Amino acid sequence: MTFTFVTLFSNLVEGYFNDSILKRAIEKNIFRVKYLNPRDFSLNKHSKVDDTAVGGGAGMVMNPQPLFDALDSLKKEDENVHIIFLTPVAKPFVQNDAKRLSNKSHIAFVSGRYEGIDERVIEKYADEVFSIGDYILTGGELASLVICDAVSRNIDGVLGNSDSLTIESFESALLEAPSFSKPKLYEGLNVPSEYLKGNHSKIRSLKIALSECKTKFFRPDELKKHCQGVK
Ligand code: SAM
Repeated sequence: MTFTFVTLFSNLVEGYFNDSILKRAIEKNIFRVKYLNPRDFSLNKHSKVDDTAVGGGAGMVMNPQPLFDALDSLKKEDENVHIIFLTPVAKPFVQNDAKRLSNKSHIAFVSGRYEGIDERVIEKYADEVFSIGDYILTGGELASLVICDAVSRNIDGVLGNSDSLTIESFESALLEAPSFSKPKLYEGLNVPSEYLKGNHSKIRSLKIALSECKTKFFRPDELKKHCQGVK
């Protein structure tokens, strides 16, 4: 699996892969990360990649030419590359997308900057567009990393224990039940006594009840789906 970050600011992305689980996955050759800078493709004598918006409006918009050429070169190298644009003007990315995308062989994330990307680039090259939430970031790099992280932990071998994937929030309509580590008593605070008694069916029932409470409080929309039997 290959992830290509199409970005003007690869420094913002690189550090994320220098530690922890994703670093180990790269060392084990489970996936690799590449970078493509649209500025390297600019035909402007000052390597400009943006200009004022046609029709007026605040701020600068990323020009089509450097991105057309960068993405053409990417597609020439690998015709199977799946190109994702990060933009607030899209459906929100969810866990099912993370699982589905983990089966792709090559994903490219295209990050906008300034007021965004000339729409013709998105129309021509996007296989998908995603938003990571109802707020505006300064650029798409963080959004790309969020999606890359969520996708990559679903690739075989990335997580030490693949069971972790099946008992998480969003695997069903319920959020995950609270977790506790040792010691069992810390600064006068106990873990729930049922967790200590070793009766796994009772622990499971308690966890479901706690999951329902958490979901009711934080995500009543998801609880409604659970009650209707919708996943
Ligand atoms: N003018 C745009 C709008 O109002 O929709 C926002 C542009 S934003 C300042 C610059 C870039 O950040 C976008 O092109 C996109 O790549 C990225 N971005 C910002 N918010 C995002 C979000 N919620 N999800 C995904 N990408 C986002």
